[in-house]
Amino acid sequence: MITPGEADILLVVDVQRDFLPGGALAVPDGDAVVPAVNALGRRFAHVVLTQDWHPPDHASFASRHPGRAPFDTVRLAYGEQVLWPDHCVMGTPGADLADGLDLPGAELVIRKGFRPGIDSYSAFLEADRTTPTGLAGYLRERGVARVVLCGLATDYCVGWSALDARAAGFEAVLVEEACRAIDQGGSLARAYAAMDAAGVRRVRMDAVGP
Ligand SMILES: [Zn+2]
Repeated sequence: MITPGEADILLVVDVQRDFLPGGALAVPDGDAVVPAVNALGRRFAHVVLTQDWHPPDHASFASRHPGRAPFDTVRLAYGEQVLWPDHCVMGTPGADLADGLDLPGAELVIRKGFRPGIDSYSAFLEADRTTPTGLAGYLRERGVARVVLCGLATDYCVGWSALDARAAGFEAVLVEEACRAIDQGGSLARAYAAMDAAGVRRVRMDAVGP
């Protein structure tokens, strides 16, 4: 049982229009997380959001790589990169937080992926694995010990954020019903295996009180 207190933060990852059905990079059943995230938000004193936030010419967009299609991989300067449909372009409606998301007490929005040449799945470290977003320092300064994660997508941005939360020295807990996955080519099973190995706990909604 998790009873959220002053040392707990609910980290709501990328619950944005483009990741919901009808959006540019829709996560299957992604809209189902909205009521779950809202319900979780009412149980936490402290909530932080992330927002995927790309320039129009972002290196992760398949449209920037002639002859390549979404979900192909390419090598960028920092390593292998999955290519995506254009999504969450900064300042466009697709990058907005999801309609119906009701987290008025959220204290911080971390935007990530705004550098043209670097993707960022994680809320903590960009995909070059060296550029910090600043979230770890913010949480430490706030005295946070445990990060409880929800949002989209389990096998990319939520999973990478959970792993990086552990690497930064925080407890990490993923609330299963408040996440949905893209799950292409076994990506969800791989993400769960990595999270298990890193000590990320997975719980159901009813394990998070009060
Ligand atoms: Zn993105």
